[in-house]
Amino acid sequence: MDFELNEEQKMFQTMVRDFVTKEVAPLASEWDETEKFPYDTVKAMGKAGMFGAGLSENVGGNGDIISNTIAAEEVSYGSAGLGVIYLVSTGLAIYPISLWGNEEQKQKYLTRSVNGTISAFGLTETMAGSDVAAMQTKYTRDGDYYILNGSKIFITNGSEAEFYTTFATKDLSLGYRGISGFILDKDAPGFSIGKVEKKMGMHPSSTSELIFDNCKVPAENLLGEEGRGFRIALEAIDESRVAIAAQALGTARAAFDAAVDYAKERKQYGTEIARLQAIQWMLADMAVDIETSKLLIYEASWLTHKTGKSPLKEAAMAKVYASEAAHRVCHKAVQIFGGYGYTKDFAVERYYRDQRLLEIYEGTSEMQRWTIARQVTGMK
Ligand SMILES: Cc1cc2nc3c(=O)[nH]c(=O)nc-3n(C[C@H](O)[C@H](O)[C@H](O)COP(=O)(O)OP(=O)(O)OC[C@H]3O[C@@H](n4cnc5c(N)ncnc54)[C@H](O)[C@@H]3O)c2cc1C
Repeated sequence: MDFELNEEQKMFQTMVRDFVTKEVAPLASEWDETEKFPYDTVKAMGKAGMFGAGLSENVGGNGDIISNTIAAEEVSYGSAGLGVIYLVSTGLAIYPISLWGNEEQKQKYLTRSVNGTISAFGLTETMAGSDVAAMQTKYTRDGDYYILNGSKIFITNGSEAEFYTTFATKDLSLGYRGISGFILDKDAPGFSIGKVEKKMGMHPSSTSELIFDNCKVPAENLLGEEGRGFRIALEAIDESRVAIAAQALGTARAAFDAAVDYAKERKQYGTEIARLQAIQWMLADMAVDIETSKLLIYEASWLTHKTGKSPLKEAAMAKVYASEAAHRVCHKAVQIFGGYGYTKDFAVERYYRDQRLLEIYEGTSEMQRWTIARQVTGMK
């Protein structure tokens, strides 16, 4: 077994770590406080070559999928909110195009992604969360266009994206077979942004409603064939799962490092609290959770790299484990900081708020367990 990254991946990891130390960590608290979208940093990430990781060379990509996992982890170490902006734009939003798009669509949209173009993935609706097939946004064909009517909620990068991949049904009675996938430009007639959510955490990233009011999408923006949308959406989510797990790992590592530093400095009863067994046990459990997450995540990422396809069971295991491990780690980090951990003076309270989303989006923990159970029992 070889657990080493190759030279290129190591160089990429060093570059991203350096970028995060200089350009992300010093601003992360301010973004959290102001809820300001970090446009300049996203642009700089594009310039530094981070958005090409995971994309093929014929669209300008410059790294394998393992590099994308590395970037999702390292960027989230600095700011989980920036992490989600990044991993949606380099993964979830564009997987429908890289997996199902034709050559023209790939050249038109993926080449822009490489340079740091922000994109979004519009699937969730008020009546269709975990149950994707219940979506009610409708489409009809009108000459050279598809006409979309309805809305999507909770869409990451919704307000800032240059383009979207989104989904609608031809006929509700057809269930999942009625769903098709589309690429939508931000200036499409009939398209607008609705409610922007106020959230518990992940403040640098926006979460918005997308409204389609007789929205005109050129027929050439259909993804794959009509009726394939359900499969396209699920495949995109499957592919993206490891990046969310890596986001959890980055967040957990940040909380752990802060807790170790604090425990070595803070003195009570005449000694550093890191010498107290109660604190040591917490730190030990946190370290085990982080190491286990790392193994599951990089195994799943390596399998994706090897086979060209995200492994359903291993990716779901990585996502459910790493997101719940991040929960435990951030909880303990706040505990180790005592009262200070509950104040805005220290970043652990931000990590604690940010991590909560990881167990919910891109498939809740319950949905991941469902996926794993179907794989291990062979029962669909
Ligand atoms: C900040 C944020 C960003 C997001 N970004 C995006 C995005 O970019 N694009 C996008 O399309 N969506 C996005 N989402 C939506 C997200 O993916 C959904 O919220 C998530 O899939 C859960 O759907 P729901 O909220 O409707 O919960 P529900 O599906 O209503 O679930 C409620 C509860 O019931 C449980 N449950 C549901 N069905 C089952 C079942 N069969 N078995 C067991 N338990 C079940 C769930 O696990 C959960 O605990 C985002 C959400 C948030 C909060």
